Amino acid sequence: MESIGVLMPIPMNSYLEGELEKRFNLFKLWTVPHKAQFLKENADSVRAVIGNSSSGADADLIDALPKLEIVASFSVGIDKVDLKKCKEKGIRVTNTPDVLTEDVADLAIGLMLAVLRRLCESDRFVRSGKWKMGDYKLTTKFTGKTVGIIGLGRIGQAIATRAEAFNCPISYHSRSQKADVKHKYYPTVVELAANCDILVVACPLTEETRHIINREVIDALGPKGVLINIGRGPHVDESELVSALVEGRLGGAGLDVYQNEPEVPEELFGLENVVLLPHVGSATVETRTAMADLVIGNLEAHFLKKPLLTPVV
Ligand code: NAP
Repeated sequence: MESIGVLMPIPMNSYLEGELEKRFNLFKLWTVPHKAQFLKENADSVRAVIGNSSSGADADLIDALPKLEIVASFSVGIDKVDLKKCKEKGIRVTNTPDVLTEDVADLAIGLMLAVLRRLCESDRFVRSGKWKMGDYKLTTKFTGKTVGIIGLGRIGQAIATRAEAFNCPISYHSRSQKADVKHKYYPTVVELAANCDILVVACPLTEETRHIINREVIDALGPKGVLINIGRGPHVDESELVSALVEGRLGGAGLDVYQNEPEVPEELFGLENVVLLPHVGSATVETRTAMADLVIGNLEAHFLKKPLLTPVV
């Protein structure tokens, strides 16, 4: 398979790069000075594109690569891939479900604890020497809080399982009520937000879910409510979130993702009720290795004409 051209537009993971280089002719687009020129010259050689949460395959890239057969995403979310165009052109799409579920769910619980118990702020309190001047103030209990989950899929379910161990009642919203689930279902996000203490976004980013967290939802969650976003930045109307936090209309937020990553609204930097992470939901050595192996497995299956391991399209 050494002659098969695989395009990686941005650096993603050194293990993945190494494994791709062992098997394919890997084009690392970020190392090339004149990208448009390079793409033009090598368009006929590229049969696969590697995507992730910040770089996928839009209509322009797909049109520029006439021999493209497969987009293998190094992520479970495929919001950066033009799925409609891929379907039209018969281009296969794969992602990395399941292997990252536990890490993302762990991180969601970590964010809940960090926001309610002010873990980051109290760490800064110790480091700055302020403890010598008096004790840190009281915070908010996590155990027993009602957790509302938007998108009770693989990750949403794993968050629910973990939150249940903290005696948190679970409720959820998704497009349809799950038959085999005992948690309380709300047909709208506003109703879910009005009836939970902590609202977690864990659904895929689609046209339907863009700004699923808007002013009305934030107001329903209220000044004691906490928003956790481990989905995608555009799920949240960020300017509404920032003003609600600055004005104290929302109790707190734990964010792993943002609308224009790596840009993060600076108004949030001074708020102690906000925990900001740099999109690290699946970022452990173990999980990124498993995700890379799945990308490789899908590419090998495709080029050996075997069934794909985790097909989306
Ligand atoms: P999944 O198993 O497909 O679950 C998605 C859930 O969202 C399903 O229960 C689905 O239920 C629900 N959903 C879909 N459209 C919806 C809508 N319009 N409104 C409400 N609910 C909707 O996906 P997953 O593996 O759990 O991953 C979920 C997302 O997490 C990914 O798409 C990705 O964007 C994000 N993620 C983030 C990180 C990170 O680093 N922060 C890492 C991994 C994944 P219905 O079909 O019944 O609506």
